[in-house]
Amino acid sequence: MREGKFVETKKEATNTFIERGPGVSEEEFDKGTFDYQKQRQRRGELARSLGVAEYVKEPSPRQEKIIVETLAAAEEVINQYSPKQVRLSKDNIFLLRKEDAVKRFGIDDDEGGRANIQGGVFVYTSPTITDSKLAHYTAHELVHHASFQRNRVLKEESGKNIYGVPDRAGLTIGDPYKGFNPEEGGHNYFEALNEAVTEQIAIEIVALLKRKTRLLDEDYEILERVYGIDSPRYSLGKHVEKPEHDDQYVYTDSYADRVDALRTTCQELYEKNRERFGSPQEVFHVFAEAYFSGKLLTLARLIEKNYGKGAFRFLADYENNGEWRKGE
Ligand SMILES: [Zn+2]
Repeated sequence: MREGKFVETKKEATNTFIERGPGVSEEEFDKGTFDYQKQRQRRGELARSLGVAEYVKEPSPRQEKIIVETLAAAEEVINQYSPKQVRLSKDNIFLLRKEDAVKRFGIDDDEGGRANIQGGVFVYTSPTITDSKLAHYTAHELVHHASFQRNRVLKEESGKNIYGVPDRAGLTIGDPYKGFNPEEGGHNYFEALNEAVTEQIAIEIVALLKRKTRLLDEDYEILERVYGIDSPRYSLGKHVEKPEHDDQYVYTDSYADRVDALRTTCQELYEKNRERFGSPQEVFHVFAEAYFSGKLLTLARLIEKNYGKGAFRFLADYENNGEWRKGE
């Protein structure tokens, strides 16, 4: 049994689990846990404590509206899978210029964003970012934020310092001592599957946003006029570009091959198990429940029963640089 506790906010207990590592005293654990409460801080304070204060680019009034509406849509969609996990307001969402994000995080991929366990959601922008792309990236990172998280409070060998290591995020499993980053000796099992589930839910959020507000109409009008499609097919296999600016594409299809593989899997599992599931969407709920609760057993059993022993482990080894259903 793992020792630790779920982080609580003013509203509710969350699905962020903080674990007390070996040899960490209760007092040290409390000190280490404090870090995870930063999401309660005010915007300026949070930006400073996350080290992004100097990089934050405040949104325009229109962008702020898109962020607020995306949050509302995210809450509605995510609540269907796991209620009350969107605990953020617009004050937790920070736009960073792409080049600053590269500087701050040392990343080479300058698109998208990232979610921080301490309550910051970062979205990388360019001056020409489209509304739908902003909504999409915000939605995607909000889904990551709402997913199950486990962080371990560990003690340095010298016994001096306490530090935190994330070893679960959504469906991903990291190394219990080194976390997710392979460069630091960690690993990131189920990364591709995790992104597919994240993106599928992000797609649902953007679709709801489009239906409920008129905010994305202009982008979608271009999509229809230029490409003859009335809604993004999220598997175009390439970026849909606005003709006048190369970097201003209307919609991106992040992880399209993984989303397609996930959808195919849900369809297959539905067909093989009609006595259990009423639709492919019901199958997807099994993936989503594992994603938000961190409990993988039901999902693992479903996969193994239908694709054979070892099939679930097979998925674990597919990272985002490979196809996770290779060979089919
Ligand atoms: Zn992602």
